[in-house]
Amino acid sequence: MIFDALTLDVDTAVGVAVHPDHGSDAATLLQRVDLAANAAKAVPGSVQLFNPALESRSLRRLGLAGDLRRALDEGKLEVYFQPKVTLRDRRLVGVECLARWEHPTHGTVAPEDFVAVAEHTGQLSRLTELVLREGLRRSRNWAQADQPLSVAVNISPRTLTDQHFPDRVRELLDEYGVPPQRLTLEITEAGVLDGTERPIPTLRRLRDLGVRLSVDDFGTGDSSLAHLRRLPVHEVKVDRSFVQGMATDPGDLAIVNAVVTLSQQFGLAVVAEGVESELTLELLQDIGCEIGQGFLFSRPLPYERLEAWFGAQVDPETITSGELPRLRAVP
Ligand code: C2E
Ligand code: CA
Ligand code: CA
Repeated sequence: MIFDALTLDVDTAVGVAVHPDHGSDAATLLQRVDLAANAAKAVPGSVQLFNPALESRSLRRLGLAGDLRRALDEGKLEVYFQPKVTLRDRRLVGVECLARWEHPTHGTVAPEDFVAVAEHTGQLSRLTELVLREGLRRSRNWAQADQPLSVAVNISPRTLTDQHFPDRVRELLDEYGVPPQRLTLEITEAGVLDGTERPIPTLRRLRDLGVRLSVDDFGTGDSSLAHLRRLPVHEVKVDRSFVQGMATDPGDLAIVNAVVTLSQQFGLAVVAEGVESELTLELLQDIGCEIGQGFLFSRPLPYERLEAWFGAQVDPETITSGELPRLRAVP
């Protein structure tokens, strides 16, 4: 569509609600058609008929808002840690911090759900700060125990629009006495490149602090590899859908190969996420990917179990003070 001098890409999303099946009054029908139209936006040009599952997810999320606030107040949210290891010799290089919430009646709530609730109810900065604090606290403890591990924390795209965020990160690094290069912030590809240059000033300020920046879920958005070069980032995480597919799908293998090769040429570190099998590990090694993360090495674990995992995996003879722990090859 041409609009004066502007060319606009226009997508349509159609939601449908049917009287009387989906409501007997106009207000209910409009509310439900809105939910259906929102769901339709996930696939440009699609038409979505209302169904009760759409309502239950959004209602559940609404119902969770108060519970999430209470959980944050009472310190009920937990942080789990998943190891990142070098693929060649399985040295532990760091951990990713992943938030966990066990709801008293609903049970485990998926992080995608409570992060969305936090985003929509003004609680995102509290959630992010909780995870950052926990990660930095553990990083400080590991450094004191001569295990200088880096910690990675997930940042929502929305946080990049908060101008105070870089200052907050600097204050927290100071408070915990953790060197900035030991903190990695993971931001999804869609958040780093939202189609505008908007997030870039915040990314620059974070990079100038000395913090490492990682593009998460790479390959799922529509940005090209060429974009990567312009971004102030240090690391790329290949989305787990490609990593999981590479052993059976030549297309996925080609994508992982391209991302790894080009990222390395740009001087970026590459992490393969979702490494679940030895076969995938071998393919990644052939391609030259250096770092991996996945169930093959460990699931995300609470701190105490991660410590036990370190203990079981680390070959004591290879530890010298200050060196990164080396993992014994998993049989
Ligand atoms: P992510 O950043 O891509 O995190 C990796 C997800 O992959 C985690 O799911 C992890 O449990 C899972 N995973 C790791 N290895 C494997 C594997 O080998 N196979 C499979 N199938 N899955 C694997 P989780 O913990 O459910 O987190 C889901 C998403 O929620 C994260 O995706 C991240 O985007 C978001 N998230 C989690 N914690 C936070 C947080 O503190 N803040 C924000 N903003 N987002 C968070
Ligand atoms: Ca991540
Ligand atoms: Ca990811």
